[in-house]
Amino acid sequence: MPVTRFISDLHLDPERPALTGLFLEFLDEQAANADALYILGDLFEAWIGDDDDAPLGSAVSGAIRQCAAGGTPVYLMRGNRDFLLGETFARQSGCILLDDPAVIDLYGTRTLLMHGDSLCTDDDAYMQFRAQVRNPEWQAALLERPLEERRVLANEMRAASRQENSGKAEVIMDVNGLAVTEAMKGNSALRLIHGHTHRPAIHNLQVAGRPAQRMVLGDWYEQGSVLECTPQGCTLRVLALPAS
Ligand code: MN
Repeated sequence: MPVTRFISDLHLDPERPALTGLFLEFLDEQAANADALYILGDLFEAWIGDDDDAPLGSAVSGAIRQCAAGGTPVYLMRGNRDFLLGETFARQSGCILLDDPAVIDLYGTRTLLMHGDSLCTDDDAYMQFRAQVRNPEWQAALLERPLEERRVLANEMRAASRQENSGKAEVIMDVNGLAVTEAMKGNSALRLIHGHTHRPAIHNLQVAGRPAQRMVLGDWYEQGSVLECTPQGCTLRVLALPAS
């Protein structure tokens, strides 16, 4: 049976080796026999540049390379944590970088793919931050700075984001309904797959008077989460961590 798998928000981090292990196992067992694997952002908890030689990046890059070399195309979209992932990482890992948004033909259904953070338009502070970090000049200037300095900055940004989000209402951090329908209408898609909010679900909605679906991928903090799509439809699955 043909199957395409979608994941996002793994937030891989040296501090959570069991999740990295689960991802490597997933690549080996589930991604290897898929028509394609799509990683829709926040593969890494933080990414300070493709020139970083930390062991986690090389291990993940090598595993993706093996999966791609086995015949499964691996597509990678950047998220708000790993927006500095670039062509060098793509070349080394053998994956194909995807723009956000991207539109694919998934077994005959036009499907819109996004990380999801651009849909959180109720969060003004975040949208301003996003505009800054997605600015190519800002990114280039950051990449000029020494790795050690970038590492410190990444930690500061994560701490600031945690602090800021702890005071925000849940609804502010979810997607905006109008932004969703506008994005789907604008891309002539009746199916949207995204991550970022860590609220895995398949929502039915109407877009331009037609039945549509928004599929939200889950995070990989306590378990893995994967959306499996076949020509018959899509199903969200949980990947349990092995008992320790
Ligand atoms: Mn995110």
